Formats: sequence, C-alpha cells, structure tokens
Amino acid sequence: MSCIFCKIASAEIPAKVIFEGESTIAFLDIKPINLGHTLVIPKSHYESLSEIPYELIGKMAEVGKKIAEAMKNTVALKCEGINFHLADGRAAGQEISHLHLHIIPRFAGDGFGLKIPPHYGQITEKEISFIHSKLISQLGEK
Ligand SMILES: [Zn+2]
Repeated sequence: MSCIFCKIASAEIPAKVIFEGESTIAFLDIKPINLGHTLVIPKSHYESLSEIPYELIGKMAEVGKKIAEAMKNTVALKCEGINFHLADGRAAGQEISHLHLHIIPRFAGDGFGLKIPPHYGQITEKEISFIHSKLISQLGEK
C-alpha cells in the first residue's frame, strides 16, 4: 500500500486531523491554498467518483458542511466564504489517486478562483440542447 491518503487514514503517517468519523477523516492540507484548507477523504481507498458508493460520497459532503460551519464560526480564521472542490480524474486536476474533497476557506481578494477557458461563451445553444438530451437519456429520466 503506497497511497499517502490511505497511510494518513490508518495513522501510519501523521496529519493535522480535525475530524474523524467512522468512514471519513478530515485533515489540514500541508500546502494550503488558504489557511484552514482541509481535505475530507474516505478511510477506504477509492480513486474516482465512479468507484465510491453514493452513501460514502454523501458522508464526505456532510463532513464538509460540518467543517465549513466550523470555519465560519472560528473567529481566528475570519473566513468570509467557502469553496468545495473535488477533482475526479487527471483532466480535472486530480493529483492523488485517492478521492478527496477540498474545503477551502475564502477571503475577499485572496486571488484564488476558477480559471475561465478561452472557449467561454462560444458553446452554442444547439450544442447545449444536444448534450441536454444526451444527459437526460443517460440518466434515464425526464
Ligand atoms: Zn488510498
């Protein structure tokens, strides 16, 4: 087992854990975007959204909400906003192949944000309608 997050989950590697539940653990990122930046991970190894059970990803979101509330209530942090970020796959920016949810405290003017791609505003209504119908049929509902 060489996964660094599995090692954190089993306490083989130390981390600044702020919350531990039955199936999830949350700890401070060692290279934080902003002070307080936290990662929520499942204790078991799942690489992607397609692998992780619905119940467990729900648990991760629940822990994320709990942490977000703690961030807002921690006066010393002066947290003004929160971003949740989950990267599924290399193309999405996933660097560690153990699924993790970033809880990022935000501050006005902190310089962090999503980068708008060059094709922004160029996707046509026709393309949107096409993918709308494809996704609906994939989901099997209307
Ligand atoms: Zn792992």
